[in-house]
Amino acid sequence: MTVTDIRIPDAIKPVDGRFGSGPSKVRPEGVEALSAVSRTFMGTSHRQATVKDHVARLRRGLGEFFSMPDGYEVILSNGGTSAFWEVATFGLVREKAQFAEFGEFGAKFVQAVTDAPFLAEPTVHRAPGGQAAYLTAEAGVDVYATVQNETSTGVAVPVRRVEGADRGALLLTDATSGGGSLDVDVRETDVYYLAPQKALGSDGGIWLALMSPAAIERAFEIKATKRYIPQFLDLVTAIEQSRLEQTYNTPALATVFLAAEQVDWMNAQGGLSWAVKRSAESAAAIYGWADRSSFAEPFVTDPALRSAAVATIDFAEGIDAAQIAKVLRANDVVDTEPYRKLGRNQLRVALYPTVDPSDVTALTTCIDYVVERLS
Ligand SMILES: *Cc1c(COP(=O)(O)O)cnc(C)c1O
Repeated sequence: MTVTDIRIPDAIKPVDGRFGSGPSKVRPEGVEALSAVSRTFMGTSHRQATVKDHVARLRRGLGEFFSMPDGYEVILSNGGTSAFWEVATFGLVREKAQFAEFGEFGAKFVQAVTDAPFLAEPTVHRAPGGQAAYLTAEAGVDVYATVQNETSTGVAVPVRRVEGADRGALLLTDATSGGGSLDVDVRETDVYYLAPQKALGSDGGIWLALMSPAAIERAFEIKATKRYIPQFLDLVTAIEQSRLEQTYNTPALATVFLAAEQVDWMNAQGGLSWAVKRSAESAAAIYGWADRSSFAEPFVTDPALRSAAVATIDFAEGIDAAQIAKVLRANDVVDTEPYRKLGRNQLRVALYPTVDPSDVTALTTCIDYVVERLS
């Protein structure tokens, strides 16, 4: 008998076994709604009203969900968050950026700016995995950038302006996985950017950014300097296309549709406050279980930094988390593997509002069941 022969009884299994941090669980109701428009929406032109109406629905829905302040706009284009880092490097950093880097995702944006020959060397405040780094006021910095939820480690920090920053300096917040699970007052940042395959419970491939008037103005200001900007990464083009409910090039129509469905669903449930509460409930379930467990503990030692969007749980020596994940997967409970590069004896569990808190509780029961049989 091999470990993957361990059968978890159906009675204790979660109703939905998808716990991935991205792509994350997509609600079957969304897929059914997509199926219902398979002949009228899918496979039709993104320059026509049928598709533009759904882009508009998504932009409007996000504005409502995040109680977007007057003057802010929802901008979107193709390529996911990774593309947005390049877009921001070309189109938002005037000269010098400062970063708070405390995980793999934050590090990638730092790399993009560091590699740009037309920008100054950025200042980077770093913290090791499981801890947080913070931004500090620095003369000459025109863009500050941090991550609301570091998906690679399960550390979350509040979205807050940098006190004492130069007048006009922008704050960019990577909310790819935090946005929609964690509380935010969008007025506290200039760019709150995310992608639809995390808390928005859709598919990948596009980036979305709530942009302040100052950030929009910055994009036009930099564009006017005639800096070389690749067409595909031109933020001004993205702004202009978004205002027309379009994208520069062809978007994934299913992604747009599923995201719009999900945002409408979340708004109908009670919006951001409902979503934050639901993720917090899942967080209480898994961290509470880990605290009580004799073989598991939250990786993030400071409870104030423990994410309610993505939980990371360390396992005691002698308990092989990779084996647990393998058995879970063989039982259709999937994507609990940790972020590979973090290299820990760990499981990682998404707590996005799409995930039912009772399924998170069921997951902990399944882990107990598997550990008992492995040891
Ligand atoms: C997933 C993730 C990204 C990368 O998003 P892509 O759309 O795959 O490029 C960036 N930042 C954070 C915090 C993420 O969780």
